[in-house]
Amino acid sequence: MLTAQYIKEKALEYGADAVGIGDVRLFAGTMKQRDPLQILPHAKCVVGCAFRVPRALYECMEKNTQFFNYTQLGVKFIDEDLAEIFLLKMAALIEDEGYDACVQRNISNLKIKGDHTTNPELLDTYELVHAEAVAEGKPVPDVIMDFNQTAQICGLGRAGMSGHLLVPELGPFVRLVFIVTDAPLECDKAFEGSICDGCGECERACPGHAIGPDGTDTWQCSVYYRGAHKSNPFMTDEFLKDEPDREKILNGDVRFDRESARRIFPKLDFLPSRPTRYAPCLCGRLCDLACYRHLKKAKLI
Ligand code: SF4
Ligand code: SF4
Repeated sequence: MLTAQYIKEKALEYGADAVGIGDVRLFAGTMKQRDPLQILPHAKCVVGCAFRVPRALYECMEKNTQFFNYTQLGVKFIDEDLAEIFLLKMAALIEDEGYDACVQRNISNLKIKGDHTTNPELLDTYELVHAEAVAEGKPVPDVIMDFNQTAQICGLGRAGMSGHLLVPELGPFVRLVFIVTDAPLECDKAFEGSICDGCGECERACPGHAIGPDGTDTWQCSVYYRGAHKSNPFMTDEFLKDEPDREKILNGDVRFDRESARRIFPKLDFLPSRPTRYAPCLCGRLCDLACYRHLKKAKLI
């Protein structure tokens, strides 16, 4: 018989670092385009799993010794290889017991219609602007769950002021996958309270001033994530040399939106990115590093 305990044991055995199971009823009121019941209408729960990203990948970026490994191993490999193998193995295990398993990995470069944000980790992100519902009452495809909301319902953690999920023990150094299933598994409680204490360390650490009271401005982040700042070790005197606002841009004092960010993207070409379509991280994710250190010091994780 498929039990929550068995699923959790297998998830840990297959490589997850944290597992939780969320009751699908807790998604009541969620917009259709984010609702797991639109993916599997007879679903009973969502299995949520977090993979740790090694701390040293962030520390090497901080020391200016290695940047490419974070992008390749900490982002791309976990989301595209590890997560997929893991999900397919978990799905087989659930299907062998006669249940459905709708696997959900990070849809890195797609945004639901109406979501105008971006994912700084990709060279660019596509909003499904032309998608239409096939019938009245149906969601506009693709349905893409809100990973932070789902992680909270699964009891894994909760997003902090930075908008990044914070998980006990791991802090912000995590990547997520989910499985929507009709298996009648015992569910965990949704994550209560908050790990984030509003210290503001993430905001102060960002070289692009991308974090504020409303979380992370993803377009601002996308410009500084890929290196438009003085702490980028690959910066050259040639970069934006004819741009009157060069100094302000390098200091993080210019605000970028979707159009102006996309205009400057081609100039932010400091490390190879074309083969993978992932933008190399040249801010060192200092927001998350500062957050992790603060949470450890304050004994909040
Ligand atoms: S430190 Fe980097 S990842 Fe964090 S908000 Fe700033 S630009 Fe984005
Ligand atoms: S650095 Fe502080 S304010 Fe920012 S997310 Fe972490 S705990 Fe919250």
